[in-house]
Amino acid sequence: MASEFDLIARYFTRPAPAGMLGVGDDCALFPAPAGMHIATSTDLLIQGRHFFPDVDPAALGHKALAVNLSDLAAMGARPIGCVLGLALPQASESWLAGFAQGFHGLADRHGCPLMGGDTTRSPHDLAISVTVFGAVAPERALRRDAARAGDDIWVSGALGAADVAYRLLDGQLPADPQRLAATRRALEWPEPRVALGQALGGLARAAIDISDGLLQDLAHVLEASGVGAHLAYETLPVAPALRGLPAATVSRAVLGGGDVYELCFTAAPGDRERVRAAAAAAGVPVTPIGRVDPRPGIVVADADGRPLADLPRGFDHFLAS
Ligand code: ADP
Ligand code: MG
Repeated sequence: MASEFDLIARYFTRPAPAGMLGVGDDCALFPAPAGMHIATSTDLLIQGRHFFPDVDPAALGHKALAVNLSDLAAMGARPIGCVLGLALPQASESWLAGFAQGFHGLADRHGCPLMGGDTTRSPHDLAISVTVFGAVAPERALRRDAARAGDDIWVSGALGAADVAYRLLDGQLPADPQRLAATRRALEWPEPRVALGQALGGLARAAIDISDGLLQDLAHVLEASGVGAHLAYETLPVAPALRGLPAATVSRAVLGGGDVYELCFTAAPGDRERVRAAAAAAGVPVTPIGRVDPRPGIVVADADGRPLADLPRGFDHFLAS
């Protein structure tokens, strides 16, 4: 096995952008943008919990950074850079080359260079920790506690594909190679909504990225804001790749499925056209799916306005009676 330092030099050392000190010193250095706050977030990915052991290493490198960029997006922050902690059971060079390619590919597209990290041999499974740094003007930050009764609730992109791909790979759904081919990219190569998040800064009120499922993540916003929500089920943007699946599979994937990395946000009804324009400028579709209610709890209503009874299990404690 190559030494830790060889591996760092080969796969994780990139020329630092002008004005930054990157890999190679005790700390990375980057200028704090004038008048802005630093936004920072960490996500930890553990083999067997967050990814399958045989996942494509390039997809894993991409996703390890994507889930963190998604947090910056949900705050309305512009990426500055990131650091990477790796615990490796063994150091296969082809694995590292793939991982680095996926990681740097996404980092380059979002101007979020790898500035440092830590690499150790793991006696057990693979673990990956990424920390991102970004910049946001505090008055434009999209906080979870900023939703107000009467706001529209919006979601970007489409819902459900990642959950279906996960359940196909995990054997929870009957094997269906065509369906897997149509949904797998959503699970393994999520596209963080960084441009949309920044376009919504100072325009939307509250925002969150959907990592654990629409209902659960929306509930975090509602609880932080002291409000509730009414969602119209038939307005939810269902991923086209789910067409033909049983209704219960679809509703579970759309309402409860995780790993989505779309943004769920609220905005004043008077700002509907500005939201649409911001989303169009960012090149991301957005859909209004309901409104913020003064009463706590989430109601999901069918086309006739009747509350859905069988919402995904595990979310019952967020629901109004
Ligand atoms: P220290 O002993 O000061 O923690 P290390 O020997 O762990 O330094 O790391 C040497 C340099 O390589 C540091 O600049 C560190 O940030 C960087 N580094 C280590 N592992 C990684 C990694 N996985 N990705 C990016 N940079 C890394
Ligand atoms: Mg170290």
